[in-house]
Amino acid sequence: AAKAAGKGQAHIFSPDMETRIHERVRLETKLRDVLETKDGLFVFYQPIVNIETGKVTAREALVRWHHPKRGWISPGEFVPVAEQSGLIDQLGQFVLEQACRDAVERDDGVRVAVNISAVQLGKGTIASAVHSALVASGLSPSQLEIEVTETALLGAETAGIDDLRRIRDMGVRVALDDFGTGYSSLSHLRVFPFDKIKIDGSFVKEAVDRMESAAVVKAVADLGKRLGVTTVAEGVETQAQLDRVREEGCTEIQGYLFGRPAPNDRDAAKIAELNKSAALTKAA
Ligand code: C2E
Ligand code: MG
Ligand code: MG
Ligand code: MG
Repeated sequence: AAKAAGKGQAHIFSPDMETRIHERVRLETKLRDVLETKDGLFVFYQPIVNIETGKVTAREALVRWHHPKRGWISPGEFVPVAEQSGLIDQLGQFVLEQACRDAVERDDGVRVAVNISAVQLGKGTIASAVHSALVASGLSPSQLEIEVTETALLGAETAGIDDLRRIRDMGVRVALDDFGTGYSSLSHLRVFPFDKIKIDGSFVKEAVDRMESAAVVKAVADLGKRLGVTTVAEGVETQAQLDRVREEGCTEIQGYLFGRPAPNDRDAAKIAELNKSAALTKAA
């Protein structure tokens, strides 16, 4: 086909691109399998802490995948694959159900926060999916938070908002994730009464050295106070960052300084085995 395209004409697919496309198709196939068996799919939890009391107020559920050949793959890589291949509803339901079950099992009054993707929003189906996860687990709606990113609200604006409203009407909290990274961040606060604003980690990281980023953090914290909503500083890794976001008025923090995402006890044992056998395969 490249020859037929004529001399001097660029190949449409370079060998490199071809490899990448193949890899992607393989990943999609494997993901389809794993969503059937749930083998190697886990939910990790990261604490979100009140900045004044130091108490854990919520745990964010973060999906993890141990691929049989490649080892751990980050959600940054496979969530987009799930979104583009129609597997995201299934993946989302897995996380939602597992997160609700784990929260009921812990029974410590700490809420659980679950991310939902743009693709799950605006179809009129997510609210009943949330409802069935609550019913199946017996978790109280007040113990659940749903996180949506700003970009999730871009395309299906009104339908997406309707879905969020249905979720919030059940008594579930709704948080705006990665605040400040999307277009027209402020306008989203006008169209929906979010319960929580999560300031993107990129601002937090820079807040110590760049007065512009510190000013953004302060502006969002002030806005949160005015609106009566919690403001979470994401990605807090150092004491200096903690001091800064406290000074700027954030009410909660999340980050490696307080705890990395970690599995529940039952999964921890399974994962230790997985990591061990992976290490052995590598050594062989
Ligand atoms: P997010 O919802 O903004 O989640 C926060 C991300 O920041 C997580 O990455 C977390 O591990 C990471 N993080 C937390 N504290 C720190 C820190 O102090 N420093 C640094 N450098 N990073 C920190 P993770 O788990 O890789 O997830 C990445 C993104 O993938 C999430 O961003 C979320 O958008 C998406 N994601 C994860 N789990 C799910 C899921 O179950 N469903 C959907 N739809 N998306 C998910
Ligand atoms: Mg999140
Ligand atoms: Mg975030
Ligand atoms: Mg993010």
